[in-house]
Amino acid sequence: MSYEAPLGEIAFLLRTLTPLASVCALPSCAHTDADMIHAVIEQAAKVARDIAAPLNAVSDREGARLENGRVTTPPGFPKAYAQLAADGWTSLAAPLEHGGQALPQLVNTIVAELFSGACVAFQMALLTGSPAAKVIAAHASQELKNLWLPQLADGSSTATIVITEPQAGSDVGLVRTRAQRREDGTYGLTGTKIFISQGDHDLAEQILHVVIARTPEGAPGSRGLSLFLVPKRLLDNEGRPGAANGVRAARLEHKMGLKGSPTCEMVFEDATGYLVGKEGEGLRNLFAMMNAMRLDVGAQSVGVASAALRKALLYVHDRRQGGADADGKPVPIVRHPDVRRTLMAMRVWTDGMRALLYTAAWHEDMAQGLTDREAAARSMHLVGWLLPLIKAGASEAASTVASQAIQLHGGHGYVSDHGVEQYARDARVFAIYEGANAIQANDLVMRKLTRAEGETFRHFAALIRADIEAAAGDGRLVEMTAALTHSLEALEQASAYMLARPASADAHAGAPIYMQLAINVAVGWMWLKMASAERESPDADLRALHARFFAAHVLVDSDALARRAMLGAALLDEAAPERLVAW
Ligand SMILES: Cc1cc2nc3c(=O)[nH]c(=O)nc-3n(C[C@H](O)[C@H](O)[C@H](O)COP(=O)(O)OP(=O)(O)OC[C@H]3O[C@@H](n4cnc5c(N)ncnc54)[C@H](O)[C@@H]3O)c2cc1C
Repeated sequence: MSYEAPLGEIAFLLRTLTPLASVCALPSCAHTDADMIHAVIEQAAKVARDIAAPLNAVSDREGARLENGRVTTPPGFPKAYAQLAADGWTSLAAPLEHGGQALPQLVNTIVAELFSGACVAFQMALLTGSPAAKVIAAHASQELKNLWLPQLADGSSTATIVITEPQAGSDVGLVRTRAQRREDGTYGLTGTKIFISQGDHDLAEQILHVVIARTPEGAPGSRGLSLFLVPKRLLDNEGRPGAANGVRAARLEHKMGLKGSPTCEMVFEDATGYLVGKEGEGLRNLFAMMNAMRLDVGAQSVGVASAALRKALLYVHDRRQGGADADGKPVPIVRHPDVRRTLMAMRVWTDGMRALLYTAAWHEDMAQGLTDREAAARSMHLVGWLLPLIKAGASEAASTVASQAIQLHGGHGYVSDHGVEQYARDARVFAIYEGANAIQANDLVMRKLTRAEGETFRHFAALIRADIEAAAGDGRLVEMTAALTHSLEALEQASAYMLARPASADAHAGAPIYMQLAINVAVGWMWLKMASAERESPDADLRALHARFFAAHVLVDSDALARRAMLGAALLDEAAPERLVAW
């Protein structure tokens, strides 16, 4: 399946909304420069096109397998993984002192997007290494850091995130896997985990499981959970993978997409684990990893949406149906207004979400690298606010855009020849894993909005207002600035409503609608910024046109969304659970 990275769009963002120059100016980036980063991105685009993309169809067709206790990935995966690890693609984010390249988050996010657009099932093998390294770097002992960070960097070990159990999905506090402390300070972990991505495979000799489990003294609920590193193979005296640890893949899920990525039921039988941080602080510490993974789900989503959009853009000029050209032939379907509306809808969400994703990654770099501590803290809180918007907004966009790509291909999209329907199947899980989108809405309203009585939200609103003011006088953006001003006021009204009812049934009932309004405002803000940048460039008019489209077709719903967010729980309470039953 062919793949081409949207390098023009990426370069535009790196010149304008998320300037690479300001990232490279950070003291933490002294070892790198813009030329080198551009070269990394161009090389990533080639790797995506030449190595990852050819795996996409075979990944879907062959899938991962579990035979005689061994999990194998689709043909071509092991060779491609070995090449990528050897070429340094597993070490982009890792610290220099542990053999990594310590490149900015922005670069990691871009590379994740490109590899995902080419073959997201393959990208799953690379997904968890850097988030696992983050949690280890932040919370593990020096000994564990020295042992594991180099292995994650050179790709000799991949990583997993191991939370879910049959009875513990969104409600992590229900986890039952036990961790019994031993005399030598290690722990024996016993229990069953499900849906573990890359829980076993044939890509690397070692797998480092980052596991949430409960110690016997642990309080009930999420406060009693602790975090452990559990290697697939115990290390010998020289730190090399030795005897098998007590953890194995008991079965693989058969699923609608991501077929090349093994999703495993993992059984732990007194498996040796090493505590990360303190007992009882496991879930809090794991957020270092989960936040990184939520950003990565945004990158996966933008990657797949962008690949689907490109396929549709190629097809609509080629396929002729209806009407009559000057020479009497049917017209390319792009001539039909509804097709163009669909293409514009696909583009405003794909490019708008990419801009928002990079904005969060850019602020993550600022949060980590700025020496002005107040500015760094503001960036950190802004990232916290944007993460649920990106995880939920980009995942929904990916599914919608993939579905629209099928629609534009007609029956040729529904059958598998063009590879478009695979995007829809692969993308569907983005809204489910790493915290289902309803959980993102709860996080946004109950935690992110209420922080310091709405301070982060006010900062977000102030940034948008400043950009609206800066765009005043630009005749091309009159509709956009008016619609965004109005939408921001609607969001402020809904925010005040939520802040007045913290953690109430009314707030829970309205949270997903509130989140949709916040997503629309955030993406609208991105379009205002994109349309305001590089006004003299040949692409400026097309960007302004898409900004107007976003105002006319998306922001137009803001009043209705705000009203729905503030409806409260009464109507839903009337629909009591006993009334919503199957026939
Ligand atoms: C392909 C795939 C890969 C995965 N990889 C991993 C992995 O590597 N590691 C791992 O630990 N897990 C993994 N998971 C598990 C995934 O994180 C969970 O499926 C997800 O967290 C949802 O849990 P659940 O499936 O039990 O759904 P449930 O928690 O049962 O939720 C079902 C639905 O109920 C609603 N809901 C539930 N609780 C609430 C609430 N409080 N408020 C509002 N609505 C609510 C939501 O609509 C939700 O979608 C993976 C899953 C899949 C399918």
